[in-house]
Amino acid sequence: MMTENTVKIDLTYNYEDLRDPVRALCAKFPGEYWREKDTDRAYPEEFVDELTKSGFLAALIPEEFGGSGLGIGAGAAILEEINASGGNSGACHAQMYTMGTLLRHGSKEQKRAYLPKIASGDLRLQAFGVTEPTTGSDTTQLNTTAIKKGNDTYVVNGQKVWISRAQQSDLLLLLARTTPKEECKKRSDGLSVFLVELDKAVGKGLEIKPIRTMINHNTNELFFDNLEIPSNTLIGEEGKGFRYILDGMNAERILIAAECIGDARWFIKKSSSYASEREVFGGPIGANQGVQFPIARVYAQTEAADLVVKKAAALFESGLPCGPEANMAKLLASEASWEAGDTCMQTFGGFGFAEEYDVERKFRETRLYRTAPISTNMILGYIGQHVLGMPRSY
Ligand SMILES: Cc1cc2nc3c(=O)[nH]c(=O)nc-3n(C[C@H](O)[C@H](O)[C@H](O)COP(=O)(O)OP(=O)(O)OC[C@H]3O[C@@H](n4cnc5c(N)ncnc54)[C@H](O)[C@@H]3O)c2cc1C
Repeated sequence: MMTENTVKIDLTYNYEDLRDPVRALCAKFPGEYWREKDTDRAYPEEFVDELTKSGFLAALIPEEFGGSGLGIGAGAAILEEINASGGNSGACHAQMYTMGTLLRHGSKEQKRAYLPKIASGDLRLQAFGVTEPTTGSDTTQLNTTAIKKGNDTYVVNGQKVWISRAQQSDLLLLLARTTPKEECKKRSDGLSVFLVELDKAVGKGLEIKPIRTMINHNTNELFFDNLEIPSNTLIGEEGKGFRYILDGMNAERILIAAECIGDARWFIKKSSSYASEREVFGGPIGANQGVQFPIARVYAQTEAADLVVKKAAALFESGLPCGPEANMAKLLASEASWEAGDTCMQTFGGFGFAEEYDVERKFRETRLYRTAPISTNMILGYIGQHVLGMPRSY
């Protein structure tokens, strides 16, 4: 029987055959491209199109539905390479992990209707509607309701915040309350997942308002006012939605951790080259231990975090529990990328602030990972309470 102790992590295979074409694709979208999109807060449509056409966004969709049927390690390698190239996977990563909820819990009809079109790029499933303004990280307490009307319809009312790419997606995976809190035995009961077709919703009970943020993330507020959705948009069983979402969290954590590793590698490469070339006081700044050692330290930190990402991916692919590893991977990788970003800013001195080097942009972008999709404290709470068995604060 396969156990955590017998799962092998193959460190001799690093998906180079997959990484090479991703690198080649990313090379067509250099810093100038991302900088321009960042300035205009514009969606990197051309990049996402090319990634879709090349099949990379369908890497995790099973072959029977038109995808490549690859494992999470392959998805992680793709997203890592995008960020390591100076790009930002945030434009498209959600499809890889939200698709899993449909794949694992959707009906045969739903899977047949949507997955092949998602794989071919005819439909985008890029939006994931969980967070609400009044409940934030306390997801089980969310207030948006989906109330059944007759046999064929649910009526949605409420508000979501930070729902990214809702304007660049055809489908929204929505978590809403189908049973009032007071009637639920457990905090996690009474929530359901729906796959909402956005073209049938916008202007008919759904309003989307963009939020301008410190990074180019195409994120929005959503307002639901008696939006009617067909009851066949319900994924799985009513009331079990929180469990379905939790089920996809490990994949999300692993993929986001890989993006952080990509960012860290980009910062480390930039820092070490700049420190070797930039001369003041008659020599390269990187000859000073004060400049060199922080770069060396964060390199070691990144390699360590990467090993935990690989461990989590190996467990996930073997179908074994990997909650602690997936959460630790996200925690360690997001700390490594943040440290690498700060080190890069410091190494570049004043030039770190100049837009043309992309350092300040990547520095802003990588900061998100300590807050979203889950903040560092929530992971520490998970480790403290679920791994180490310490009490909950409240
Ligand atoms: C750019 C961006 C894109 C996003 N995209 C999406 C998306 O597509 N879909 C979606 O559903 N959400 C999205 N989010 C939301 C994101 O997941 C949340 O912002 C995040 O989970 C934190 O929730 P919050 O902002 O309400 O913070 P809060 O829950 O208010 O927490 C604020 C701070 O307090 C800390 N805190 C709260 N409670 C505790 C506690 N009990 N113990 C210790 N510390 C605590 C938190 O860790 C955090 O640091 C996005 C956010 C951003 C900024």
